[in-house]
Amino acid sequence: MAAPLRSPRSLRSRAPLSRFAAFLRATLTRAPHVAWTLAVLGLVLATAPCLRAAPSAPAVAPHGLRVEGVNYYDARAQFAKLGYRATYDSERQALTLKPRQPGPVGRELVLTGDKREATLDGMRIFLGEPALLHRGALHLAAIDYERFLLPILRPERQPARPLRTIVIDAGHGGVDTGTQNKKHSLDEKNFALDVALRLEALLAAKKFRVVQTRTDDRFIPLAQRAEIANAARADLFISVHFNAVANNPKVRGTETYVLTPQFQRSTSSLKASAEDKEKQVGNRHDVWSAVLGYHVHRQLLGELKSEDRGYKRARFAVLRLVDCPAVLVEAGYLSNDAEALLIASEAYRARIAKAVAEAVVAYDQARRGAEAGAVRLPELTR
Ligand SMILES: [Zn+2]
Repeated sequence: MAAPLRSPRSLRSRAPLSRFAAFLRATLTRAPHVAWTLAVLGLVLATAPCLRAAPSAPAVAPHGLRVEGVNYYDARAQFAKLGYRATYDSERQALTLKPRQPGPVGRELVLTGDKREATLDGMRIFLGEPALLHRGALHLAAIDYERFLLPILRPERQPARPLRTIVIDAGHGGVDTGTQNKKHSLDEKNFALDVALRLEALLAAKKFRVVQTRTDDRFIPLAQRAEIANAARADLFISVHFNAVANNPKVRGTETYVLTPQFQRSTSSLKASAEDKEKQVGNRHDVWSAVLGYHVHRQLLGELKSEDRGYKRARFAVLRLVDCPAVLVEAGYLSNDAEALLIASEAYRARIAKAVAEAVVAYDQARRGAEAGAVRLPELTR
């Protein structure tokens, strides 16, 4: 369900301020004392909206727009800086962005007016704010650009971080069965553990240090899972789950989650809430989580050929509390009989593990690119 379009009365563009600056420059040469009075007045006017703004929300960019406390970029202008050309379908309010020189990632991004759902490389992705149509141009929330899309498209511009220790978190366990398919007597906890153990073998073979939050059928509280990861100094956290939905046995497919960025609402939230403003430990790693989630979702869909339920954002406890890039995989629906029987087969679970392991390799390549491109400070000399 799409959120209603915002009131045009609340639209505020930077254009009046730049015209004011030009007027000020002209006056300065003719009547300096008038110019100084205007300059002070201008400063007061320019600062007033900032006082109402969220304290650490990103600054408004050139060509930017601020609506109801959210900063936006003109998507066409912003992506032009990355070498993307845009085509706009006014009937569908859809802006299609394609790079002039396509690489493996970011070949096509489609934003649609008034929708949080977009597509990237043919996958469903969910933004924090709906794309906003203003004066005939689609605008993209600055946080969605800076902390989600830009890291995925240009990971080499992000500060490099290491990848040695990977913590795998098999969801549920013990008395907590997770979701179930009662008809076929299937419990999520068993399949989550099985995939986690398969993934461990694949990642260990690639020389990563792997730590599991559980290796048998036991209950572990959510906070303790994050503590295990943080104590192990995890560089990456992967939580494995299977999904279910009540009263709709037709729903099937794969969802991938990363932590919702600060100042945004989660994919399932229709309205903003006070919690959105809180910065979580996991938010320190938004940019690399964005990269990780992209590759995990892409590899899962590519390997499983499952229905695309979307690359989404949520504030699940483990994603909030781990101090490293993190992803939570909902690999399939146990409430869908056909998909439940697939999940119950060893071959399908092996493919889930393979897809996630390949996603880690793709993430590591992106990370190495950033490492190679990182600005290094010169060595200290005596
Ligand atoms: Zn679960």
